[in-house]
Amino acid sequence: MKLASANEPINPARHRRAFSLPQLRQRLRDLGAKPCHEDRLLRGWSQARSYDRAHSAVEDFFPLALRNELPAIEADLNGLARLHGEYPAGAGVARLLVELADGQMVESVLLPRGGLCVSTQVGCAVGCVFCMSGRDGLLRQLGGAEIVAQVVLARKRRAVSKVVFMGMGEPAHNLDNVFEAIQLLGTQGNIGHKNLVLSTVGDLRVFERLMNGIHSPQPSDETTGETTSHLTRLPKNDSQVIGYSHLTRLPKNDSQVMGCSHSARPSENDGQAAGHPAGGRGGERERQSSITAVKPALAVSLHTTDAALRARLLPHAPQIGIEELVERAEAYARATSYPIQYQWTLIEGVNDSGAEAERLVQLLSGKYAVMNFIPFNEADGLDYRRPSSERTAFMAHFLHRHGILAKIRDSAGQEVEGACGQLRARAAQAG
Ligand code: SF4
Repeated sequence: MKLASANEPINPARHRRAFSLPQLRQRLRDLGAKPCHEDRLLRGWSQARSYDRAHSAVEDFFPLALRNELPAIEADLNGLARLHGEYPAGAGVARLLVELADGQMVESVLLPRGGLCVSTQVGCAVGCVFCMSGRDGLLRQLGGAEIVAQVVLARKRRAVSKVVFMGMGEPAHNLDNVFEAIQLLGTQGNIGHKNLVLSTVGDLRVFERLMNGIHSPQPSDETTGETTSHLTRLPKNDSQVIGYSHLTRLPKNDSQVMGCSHSARPSENDGQAAGHPAGGRGGERERQSSITAVKPALAVSLHTTDAALRARLLPHAPQIGIEELVERAEAYARATSYPIQYQWTLIEGVNDSGAEAERLVQLLSGKYAVMNFIPFNEADGLDYRRPSSERTAFMAHFLHRHGILAKIRDSAGQEVEGACGQLRARAAQAG
């Protein structure tokens, strides 16, 4: 069965129901979906591929009520994120202006080597002075389904193997929905945990949530593929276990749709984690979701080592001390074995001094970290300048000389007037 056309008319009232992933799951359950049906639909959707399998077509697998509703569900899912414009920027980079079901716009960025940057909010309350996204404050949160829908939209254009949550919005201000999306992408969405990169300006709630994930029971491997046996092990006397051969011989009558115990079989899940054990056990779903807590990598937007300057550059960021911020990030890095990716928008005459470089060396020496310097993207209405390439190189080389890994990242979209939030701002002005 093919995914529904992305050109069907938008029905905002209907789309609102699907913004949240729990609502989407409940909608499927209300249609008689058992965990295996839910799993296959979410897997197919989040990976932008067919729901059919070689030996198990949708007609033989989904309950009748779900099959009947499937076109409407697909239309709703397709309507969550539609391409409004694509702006190639060379070297495998393209900025996508994405229209949500209610007409709001956000930006996603296709990055080299299968990367994708997604937005988590419309607008942003942090109000960084060098960013267009924060100009109008926060307009609304994105639901978990809308965040995943950006990945689906990108996957319809090309493969996506890494997702960074660094687009419009501060993920810490929409933590439940962001973690919902991370959980789905790290399980059914087939993205390795360390390739899900959660970004924050530094918020205690993020660190608490991340460390809770560390302390809950974990699968033995970062990728979903190796977790199958751990997660889907069934009791030996489970009477619902059926042979795979049953899959292709079941009648299409709803009353005879199979139970879900077969979803634990690798053949059904293409070697991926099923994420659910035998069906019909409500409490079991919740237990699974805690066991499968996905551990994303972490990026921290630092921008300066000077607390007073940081308060001016990021006016509504939590007032957490810079040393504490780094210590908390470091604890997560050590617990996960993923280095912290510090972000530093480099602005001429603001945070590109030798004194900043020296303080950075003191701050990050011995830390499990990578510093990403991102030269500022000049834009109308933003009264800052991009530093010279020599100055940028100085900052990176200074850290290198002192044993700290530092990289220079060009802000994707410089060529298309597409620094974070600029495309959306331009579209809003035109509209
Ligand atoms: S840089 Fe990030 S946190 Fe700051 S205003 Fe822009 S979107 Fe928000």
